[in-house]
Amino acid sequence: MDEPVGLRAERRREEHWIDTLRVAENDLDFSPECGNAQQLVDSSLGFELELAEALRLRMLRVDFQPQFDLGSGLGCGVEALARWVRSTGEVIAPSVFIRIAERADLIHTLGAWVLHSACTTASAWCSRAAQPTTLSVNVSALQIDEAFFGVIERTLEQTGFPAKQLELEITESALIANLPLSIEHLKAWKQLGVRIAMDDFGTGHSSLSSLSRLPVDRLKLDRSLVHRMTLDRKGAAIMRLVVSLGAELDMEVIAEGVETEEQLQMLTDLGCPRAQGYLLGRPMAAELVQAALAKTWGNRAMPLHARVGCAVRESQRIDRSAASSKRSTMNSYEATHATIGHLRRS
Ligand code: C2E
Ligand code: MG
Ligand code: MG
Repeated sequence: MDEPVGLRAERRREEHWIDTLRVAENDLDFSPECGNAQQLVDSSLGFELELAEALRLRMLRVDFQPQFDLGSGLGCGVEALARWVRSTGEVIAPSVFIRIAERADLIHTLGAWVLHSACTTASAWCSRAAQPTTLSVNVSALQIDEAFFGVIERTLEQTGFPAKQLELEITESALIANLPLSIEHLKAWKQLGVRIAMDDFGTGHSSLSSLSRLPVDRLKLDRSLVHRMTLDRKGAAIMRLVVSLGAELDMEVIAEGVETEEQLQMLTDLGCPRAQGYLLGRPMAAELVQAALAKTWGNRAMPLHARVGCAVRESQRIDRSAASSKRSTMNSYEATHATIGHLRRS
């Protein structure tokens, strides 16, 4: 399958950085006999030290990308995305520096800082906003531990940000990698009142049983699904299926990486309730995102079946036909899920 040019370039950049790190790692020789001991401060270690310093000096920042409700057209949330600009002016992609932070055991400090910084910024909006918006913060697989409970609790206490408006995003692959552990910790965090989103859904390999066991409030549909959706009938079928799966499992659904009007219209037609992407707003500085959220992407009436679906869920009336439609959605999901997991590679 053809990848969009932007995605391909981004992946190539990432691969370059990762190769650099890998080569540097292979070159390391910590044996005392090694005559070139001083040369051990290679690029990999150099980056780790530089990132640690940037963290210490608070040289990282958090940008925010707006999210929209496609039914009302109104802004409904923001995703916090960490940014690192080196002193040379070079911008390092988070997909790269998050990995560096994970390798260098800096991810806990970085993750706690991002959470605190995003909640502090968003608290100021809360008092002014006409309606509450969700703040989504990405959490690394390595942060899924007992200690993070305390980090969330302290952050909410110190910043005064309302727990019910905070959403923690964890990738599908991270959640599935250690399912029992994810379930245990997610349940504990949710006792604090926060919500959980499964990020990049469609790139991992969750089964229906793992999906129904994980205490997840929202599925974030990966942008590869959005891209594929308009290319052929199968892509559209998968998107339709995943949107209805979310509704059947009482999970909110949001589509990521919406770049074109065609994608936005199609998502609306399929009854996808929320969306995020460059078309609607790029990640931007905190001062700008409130204005971006005020822009309305309205007049896109949701299809009747999506509205009927909501009404049924709200009244908790699952009649025989709804139950049978649920069974058929789930059966189709089980039948096609291998395809979803392989979309990015096919
Ligand atoms: P993600 O959480 O899936 O975030 C969405 C990524 O897609 C962001 O990339 C965003 O800029 C990009 N994006 C949004 N709309 C579009 C679009 O329409 N088209 C395209 N091509 N891209 C779009 P970014 O900021 O480079 O972040 C990449 C990943 O790095 C994130 O993916 C997330 O997994 C990770 N990340 C970012 N900030 C943090 C953080 O504070 N902590 C952790 N653990 N991970 C983070
Ligand atoms: Mg995310
Ligand atoms: Mg994502």
